[in-house]
Amino acid sequence: MALFIKNIEYLTMADGPQTAFGSIRIENELISAIGQIEPQASDEIIDGKHLLAMPGLVNSHNHAAMTLLRSYADNLPLMEWLNNKIFPAEARLSAEDIYIGNLLAHLEMIKGGTTCYADMYFNQEQAVRACEQSGMRASLSLGTADNLNNFKEKLSDSLRFCENYNNSASGLVSVMLGPHAPYTCSQAYLRGISELALEKDLPIHIHIAETQNEQNIIQQQTGMKVIPYLNSLGMFEAKVLAAHMVYVSAEDIELLLGKKVGASICTQSEMKLASGIAPVPAYLNAGITVGLGTDGASSNNDLDMWEEMRTTALLHKVERLNSTVITPYETLSMATSGSARCLFLDQQIGTLKAGKKADIILLNTLQPHFYPRNDMLSQLVYCAHASDVETVIINGKIVMKNRQCLTLDEEKILFAAEHCAKKILTR
Ligand SMILES: [Zn+2]
Repeated sequence: MALFIKNIEYLTMADGPQTAFGSIRIENELISAIGQIEPQASDEIIDGKHLLAMPGLVNSHNHAAMTLLRSYADNLPLMEWLNNKIFPAEARLSAEDIYIGNLLAHLEMIKGGTTCYADMYFNQEQAVRACEQSGMRASLSLGTADNLNNFKEKLSDSLRFCENYNNSASGLVSVMLGPHAPYTCSQAYLRGISELALEKDLPIHIHIAETQNEQNIIQQQTGMKVIPYLNSLGMFEAKVLAAHMVYVSAEDIELLLGKKVGASICTQSEMKLASGIAPVPAYLNAGITVGLGTDGASSNNDLDMWEEMRTTALLHKVERLNSTVITPYETLSMATSGSARCLFLDQQIGTLKAGKKADIILLNTLQPHFYPRNDMLSQLVYCAHASDVETVIINGKIVMKNRQCLTLDEEKILFAAEHCAKKILTR
């Protein structure tokens, strides 16, 4: 049976910065038609009155299971936070804890209109299991670091994960290689990953140039800055999802032009960990693909892409002392089509077009902050909240209706997450 969203205002993110009115038909997992169309007799109808349809938001950098560590040990310096708090807590996480952490993340993302995310973590089998349950779309990578002695073993682990789980969870899960960062992986490993990525046509998901400290370490070890260093290892010949990209110069941007590199900017995490401000306007001007991500919930502290959009737009205006920097359409693009390009899934998701996967969110716009209707795109960026998302469709399937998640038992997940966190953090 087909789904027919009737008489709705919609923003396709493929036809420029304006909304239109019409209907959307969904057959199986695809958008089959959009515009001035009529339903067929057997279609299930959703009345679009007072709703706005747009592409589901794509969170291009996450560590979903870290929801269990949300607001744990906040406001510490980065290395102290990681070494004394986060790493010891993560060492205590069982496979089942990671599954629960993923379910909590999926629930939060679905309730905020995120329909796809890129994730790097360990024990990613549990993320696949969570996608099967929630119906969430994901690009998963096994986060890996090596100590040079074990780099071949780590290469086989990374490849095995990709081969076992590509196109799993009924096609909802795609995969990437996941070397953690230039300062936690050896040269031999990063070179091996780059070769593997090219040979197997697998994208790489990696943290790049997140802090000044990272830049200093790499400069000391190699005599090069991070971007030229990774380039010298052949990494940018492959497809790369580069998380953070804060310490990137004009020469670095020049070097990346024409490469298949997407920058996932995690503004709130970069602010909270006091990492720095990524050169987003320079990326946009140069034509570098930019997506938005939340990073893990322990450094954000939520998975709210609406907040991420608003913070990003505002931060760069004040940083540049220029209110024309980053338009609402550019901001919305970063959270939808831009992030989809970062995940190398833009042929399938990120815009509303016939033939694309039906990952669609419906927002309730019959609310004070959407009136008067002076500029809907501005209102989406500067006024909308995660709680405005009323219905979520992923891969043609309704996973949330009238704010009720249909695939997950909300109360059970909250209780289980509370239980897990108590166990891990007080052990
Ligand atoms: Zn991260």
